[in-house]
Amino acid sequence: MNIFFDMDGTLSVFNKEAGPDVWSAPGYARTLEKLNNVVGACKQLLKEKTINGEKINVYICSAVVSMDFAVEDKKYWLKEMGIDIPKENMIFVPYGQSKKKAIEEAGVTVRPGDVFLDDYTNNLVELAQIKGLIPIKLLNGINDTHRSWRGARVSAFSDASEITTTILGISLVSRAA
Ligand SMILES: [Mg+2]
Repeated sequence: MNIFFDMDGTLSVFNKEAGPDVWSAPGYARTLEKLNNVVGACKQLLKEKTINGEKINVYICSAVVSMDFAVEDKKYWLKEMGIDIPKENMIFVPYGQSKKKAIEEAGVTVRPGDVFLDDYTNNLVELAQIKGLIPIKLLNGINDTHRSWRGARVSAFSDASEITTTILGISLVSRAA
């Protein structure tokens, strides 16, 4: 199964005080705090390797303000956090462009029960159009103010193992349905 992780606001703390001049600056993405339990869940899933005998592939799918320094900054951050993801499993999307399209262009075959963890409802709504993919909203303490997302959700403040179990459970239940 494939599990996609957004970065800003999902693996890292989203700083809503920072204006565009701050968050689009070179090096900024290196300084972000982690959402500890989500990073923990991501690492557990990378270590888990299989579920019901099926290989688990963890992907990063994250928007970047540039395809040069911002990509390097995000790779640096992942390494700093000990998130050891192969380069071919990193999908970086120019800011404002479609994650759905980026996944398709990366040539990833999405199967029923694959999941995408993201904090932003607009992304989740778009990702729901990929056949078989289950978007899961990551509640990070600052989003979900309108409670507009009706689909699956998981809290960044649950234990890492609880987040892992929830993600895998949502996938298994959807496949059994
Ligand atoms: Mg995000």
